Amino acid sequence: TACSRTGTETLRYELYVFGTLVNVTLWEVQPEEGEVAITELNEAFQRMHHDWHAWKPGPLVDINRAIARGESTEVIPSLVPIIEQSKVLERRSDGLFNPAIGGLLSIWGFQSDQPPSGPPPASEAIAEWVEQAPSMENVHLDGNVLTSDNPAVQLDFGAFAKGYAVDLAIRHLRERGIENAIVNAGGDLRAIGSKGEKPWRVGVRHPQGGGVMAAIEVRDDESVFTSGNYERYREHEGVHYPHILDPRTGMPIESVTSVTVIHDNGAEADAAATALIVAGPKEWHRIAEQMGIRYVMLVDDGGTIYMNPAMAERVDLQGDAAQNVE
Ligand code: ADP
Ligand code: MG
Ligand code: MG
Repeated sequence: TACSRTGTETLRYELYVFGTLVNVTLWEVQPEEGEVAITELNEAFQRMHHDWHAWKPGPLVDINRAIARGESTEVIPSLVPIIEQSKVLERRSDGLFNPAIGGLLSIWGFQSDQPPSGPPPASEAIAEWVEQAPSMENVHLDGNVLTSDNPAVQLDFGAFAKGYAVDLAIRHLRERGIENAIVNAGGDLRAIGSKGEKPWRVGVRHPQGGGVMAAIEVRDDESVFTSGNYERYREHEGVHYPHILDPRTGMPIESVTSVTVIHDNGAEADAAATALIVAGPKEWHRIAEQMGIRYVMLVDDGGTIYMNPAMAERVDLQGDAAQNVE
C-alpha cells in the first residue's frame, strides 16, 4: 500500500485489488491510525478477491463445479450473505441482474483476464444457455449448504462484488472510529461524513472519452456506481461485444454505454447499475423503481445523457456534456 499526505488533513492510500486501483481517502485521521486501518482493509480485500473469484481456483470455483455435477456443497461464510442478497436483487431487477450467469460469460470468453478476439460464439451455445435459464431462483441455501436445481447455474458476482466490498470497507473504517472517508474502487465508491466543511465531490468519467463528464457531491453514507460497456469487451471486424450480457437473449448489451446511480448501499448500487444498463432506454425507469434507486443517469451510444429529475438536481455536468442532455 502506498500512502501520500496531501495537506495536513487528508491521508490518501492506494491499494490494488479486484483488478483495479482502489483509492481510500481519510479526513482528519492520525497517520498511525490510518495505517492500521488500511493494512487490515487491504488484507480483507485480498481475501474477498480470492474467495469470490469466478474463474481462478478458490471457493467459488469449487462451488460452481459441485453445481455442475448436481451436488450440494458447503459455502464459506463470506459468500452466504452475498448469495442471499443477490437472490433478492435479481428478483427486484426482473432477472436483468443475474449472478447465475457464469456459464454464459464463459461461453462469451469473459471469464478470463483478457477477453478473446475472433467471431462471437456459436448461436446454438447461446440459445441453449437461454433455454436452460439459470437463475438465483434455482439456488437454495440451507444454512451454509447450497443446492441448485439447475446444473447450468454458475455463480459470478462480478456485477456487484465491488459494491459489496466497498460496503464492508466502510463498515470496517467506522469500526475503527473513522467517520470521514471515501473508498473509491476505480470510479465506483462509497463515502461517509464529509471533507471538513465541504462535502466529498467526485467525478464521473465520460464513457466515450477520457474527461470528466459530471461532478457529484456525495452526501454522508452515499455510494456512486457506474456500469459501462467500454471497459471490457471483445471485438471482431470492428464490432464491440461488451462484457455485460442480457440474460433474456444471451447477447451483449447494445445502445447504452453507461449507467451511473447514486444510492446509499454500495452492493445495491452496483447491482442496479448493471441491471439498468441491461434494461436500456425503454425499461430503466421501471427497474430503477423496483430496485428502490432514486438517482439514475444513463448515456446512450450517441453520447446523449438521460437523467431522472432527482439525478438532474445532483449532477454538475462538465464541458460539452451539458449540451447533450435529453
Ligand atoms: P463493471 O465491470 O464496469 O464494474 P458491472 O458492475 O456491470 O461493470 O459488472 C460487469 C460484470 O458483471 C461482468 O464482467 C460479468 O462478470 C458480470 N455480468 C455481466 N452481465 C451480467 C448480468 N446481466 N447480471 C449479472 N452479472 C453480469
Ligand atoms: Mg462494477
Ligand atoms: Mg455492477
